[in-house]
Amino acid sequence: MKALQYVTVGDAPKIMTIPKPHAGPGQIVLKVTAAGVCHSDEFVMSLPAEAFGVMGWSTPLTLGHEGAGIVHELGDGVTEFAIGDSVAVYGPWGCGTCSYCVQGKEMLCPFAAGMGIQPPGLGSPGAMAEYLLIDSPRHLVALGTLDPVQNVSLTDAALTPYHAIKNSLSKLGAGSTAVTIGAGGLGHMAIQLLRALTGATVITLDISDAKLALAKEVGAHHTFQSNDDAIARVHELTGGIGANAVFDFVGAQPTVELASKLVRPEGDLHIVGIGGGMLPVGFGATAYDVNIRTPYWGSRLELMEVIELAQQGKIKVEFEQFSLDDGPTAYERLHHGDLRGRAVLVP
Ligand code: NAD
Ligand code: ZN
Repeated sequence: MKALQYVTVGDAPKIMTIPKPHAGPGQIVLKVTAAGVCHSDEFVMSLPAEAFGVMGWSTPLTLGHEGAGIVHELGDGVTEFAIGDSVAVYGPWGCGTCSYCVQGKEMLCPFAAGMGIQPPGLGSPGAMAEYLLIDSPRHLVALGTLDPVQNVSLTDAALTPYHAIKNSLSKLGAGSTAVTIGAGGLGHMAIQLLRALTGATVITLDISDAKLALAKEVGAHHTFQSNDDAIARVHELTGGIGANAVFDFVGAQPTVELASKLVRPEGDLHIVGIGGGMLPVGFGATAYDVNIRTPYWGSRLELMEVIELAQQGKIKVEFEQFSLDDGPTAYERLHHGDLRGRAVLVP
């Protein structure tokens, strides 16, 4: 079968021909219907070979941690799904039995990596291929009548901001303000989630006018260029005290510093982007009593919840469609920052 693989550390990914997987006991093979392109893949492909090894990953790696497919082959003992079912893949695979996994918070499993369990596309073979092996029916959620191409990116681009926002809901009632930084794949879903779930005024910052225009289209109340002038703009809109919650979907040094100046006392600061930015921790680093979080992906229940929100028509992924063969072009477009929403590959 065809697969888009990261073959040589430092090089662009390539289309390769590899063996089709088969389902062992308890496993499932999906015929892939769609795979999303995430900025985290660019992070993975920017790592030096040593760091790549430390993560427990090796090349060639089939990319794609946002996946959807049709159930194609059932391993012995799998009764939860039937051949032909349309499903979305829950990516952050855990051990399944620890105190985090039994709550469905497999993204926090402290044991998975040590047991050789890795998410598809982030260690295990990913969804950018014609077929995808799933280790357990636990990691599938039915898509029902939702179009897989339209909805595959719910599995990360929506799930990750949903998980972050859920932890701030008590602070985002009517009259509150939320700031989002970065209006790409995750950021454009965060704006919609904030509008669907909270009473907050949403202010979005980005460095691209096109992304700010998308932010407005999907529900941001105010948009500004992401620079130090935004501090005064956010303070003007919040009676001089800053936002109740700030969500940084870039996580670079300038954005984490900016985010730390936008959050009010007792506010929440979520650093979601993995752009390498670091904040000093200590008295005076932020307003008093600020809660700083570094959320990672989301739980199995939260994936069901975002799929439900899409079913209700409350959130909608903006995406550009590419063939699997054009995957390398999608990654180039991501790198140049000119995608609208998410790039989705269709094998
Ligand atoms: P993306 O490329 O689709 O979007 C990034 C956006 O940030 C773009 O709109 C870009 O114009 C904007 N941007 C870049 N520099 C900026 C700056 N200085 N100020 C403001 N905006 C700026 O990326 P994505 O796929 O949405 O991912 C966003 C980040 O989240 C990445 O770092 C990714 O690795 C990370 N991520 C984290 C998790 C997690 O679980 N924590 C999950 C998925 C992705
Ligand atoms: Zn991702």
